[in-house]
Amino acid sequence: MPKNPITLVASTILFGALILSSTIQAQSPNAANISFTVSMPKPWTHLLEVEMQIGVPANLNVPNETNLIMPVWTPGSYLIREYERHVQDFAPADANGNALQWSKVDKNTWRVVTRGARRWKANYRVYANELTVRTNELNSDHAFWNNAALLMYPEGSLGRPSTLRVLPANTWKVATGLPPVTGQANTFRAENYDILYDSPVEVSNFNQIDFDVRGVPHRIVIDGEGNYDPERMRATVKKIVEAETSMFGGVPYHDYTFILHLRSSGGGGIEHLNSTALGFPRFRFTNDQGYRRFAELVAHEFFHVWNVKRIRPDALGPFDYTKENYTRLLWVAEGITEYYGNLVVRRVGITSDQDYLEHLAKAIQDFQSTPGRLEMSAEEASFNAWIKEYRPDENSVNSQISYYDKGELLGMLLDLEIRRRTNNAKSLDDVMRTLYAEFFEKGRNYSPADFQKICESVSGGSFEDVFARYVRGRDEVPYNQFLSAAGLRLEETPADEKNPAPVKGFLGADLDDRTDIILIESVRAGSPAYEQGLNAKDQIIALNGARVSKAAFESLIEAKKPGEIVHLTLFRNDDLRTFDIKLGSRVDAAYRLVQLPSASEQQKRIYQTWLSGR
Ligand SMILES: [Zn+2]
Repeated sequence: MPKNPITLVASTILFGALILSSTIQAQSPNAANISFTVSMPKPWTHLLEVEMQIGVPANLNVPNETNLIMPVWTPGSYLIREYERHVQDFAPADANGNALQWSKVDKNTWRVVTRGARRWKANYRVYANELTVRTNELNSDHAFWNNAALLMYPEGSLGRPSTLRVLPANTWKVATGLPPVTGQANTFRAENYDILYDSPVEVSNFNQIDFDVRGVPHRIVIDGEGNYDPERMRATVKKIVEAETSMFGGVPYHDYTFILHLRSSGGGGIEHLNSTALGFPRFRFTNDQGYRRFAELVAHEFFHVWNVKRIRPDALGPFDYTKENYTRLLWVAEGITEYYGNLVVRRVGITSDQDYLEHLAKAIQDFQSTPGRLEMSAEEASFNAWIKEYRPDENSVNSQISYYDKGELLGMLLDLEIRRRTNNAKSLDDVMRTLYAEFFEKGRNYSPADFQKICESVSGGSFEDVFARYVRGRDEVPYNQFLSAAGLRLEETPADEKNPAPVKGFLGADLDDRTDIILIESVRAGSPAYEQGLNAKDQIIALNGARVSKAAFESLIEAKKPGEIVHLTLFRNDDLRTFDIKLGSRVDAAYRLVQLPSASEQQKRIYQTWLSGR
């Protein structure tokens, strides 16, 4: 465990609570602490038991009734998840243990009739059987939870401090980013609910890897076994922490915890003030590729220490936990974080220049093959996150984009354009540092206009055209116009003219890769499949009158000549249908970023400093 000395003043600043100070001051300075005890007496039942003690100091009026509210979402994952649906056995009582009357007044509010009690408590249990970075899991092996998905707040009390005591099952240890209360085992303190809800908790016999950066303790808390080499993992994560803290010039927290769940499949990450929760496939540390993917995940989540946790978009903090919090800036908060996550892995030498250019070329190709890019802007994708990003369906590819994908490309575009305009004296790094100094350090959130203004002040010229067309608008991005700053060009076909890329038959139906049957998952707008009547969920059973395997189907279509007609037999719902589809053509070539042979000294310099960070 890292050293964790606590002083109230230091952690107020270090935990990034500056922007929350207006909420805190709105509360009475004498407001009582709220104390939670979380226990797990029968871990195999997946029920986390919560006791919430509430006290009202003698100098305050005692209300006759109090609303206890359960958050419906947790910051970092922009979807209403209805955490309240897992609450059961709610039972409030006064200090003598007499039951208090209560009723639910909406889906996530429990109204308790306290009848003037100065001290009372509420007990309840929360079913926890879903391991993702934004949900809770308790079983015979471990417990992991997000406090927003477990702990209630008294209405109007988000600025109040609280303590959290954990009673672990078995001999399990407790890890969280919250500072411990001296002298009390497994007890932690949060100055307000935004900090409490931003501090997930892992309770298990976890393995731990420690390291220091700039004298600040960091730890990787690992639940689950895997084929990682602890030394290589430590070195990988430390390099990333060093590079990103150097970029911003310091460490804005007191200590940092990476909570890592290793499981057979799945994964992901979510950022917090001085911690992150990560999931990663346990046996993927077999080769460089596996470590690279792990490094990209770590670099993304850790970059959020600044971008979103401290450099906060308008609506993201202080939070309203009862409903959607809308912002048009997730393309910055997530997309630019994705951009730096991948770039920093190159900058610290885990990947090569070539790896990074291949990654960018693939990102461009994937984006350009998404018809939805012409239907939705980066700002629209951000604003609609709550109903779109986490709820993809068969029409998503045609109607929407991800702010991660477009945001990463916009990060590249802005970075290269600022470097071009300033003769490489400035970059997107300066934009991020300026946002940190001008907004986080001054206790403010930033707006879309602020972000554009800072790009303009850093580069010394208008960015209105760029933002109007590619951020607020849906114009096609002229990649080469921006890539040329670094002496690069996007090529859509192989340079080898003697061996041109083969032209293949093209249907335009994406198949569901979770099944061996030939099931159409989505149909790309404008493709032969789309224009000639195929639907998502159609199950193809024969090609030209013969049953084929899924693999044979795909290769047979590719081997056809463009313009050839294929006879498809399929089930739509439970009805047998036949279609004659005239195939289109597809050039089988990966996009590539190539260096211009005529690159100037300035272009070479931009290329070098962009990819090295120096
Ligand atoms: Zn993220």
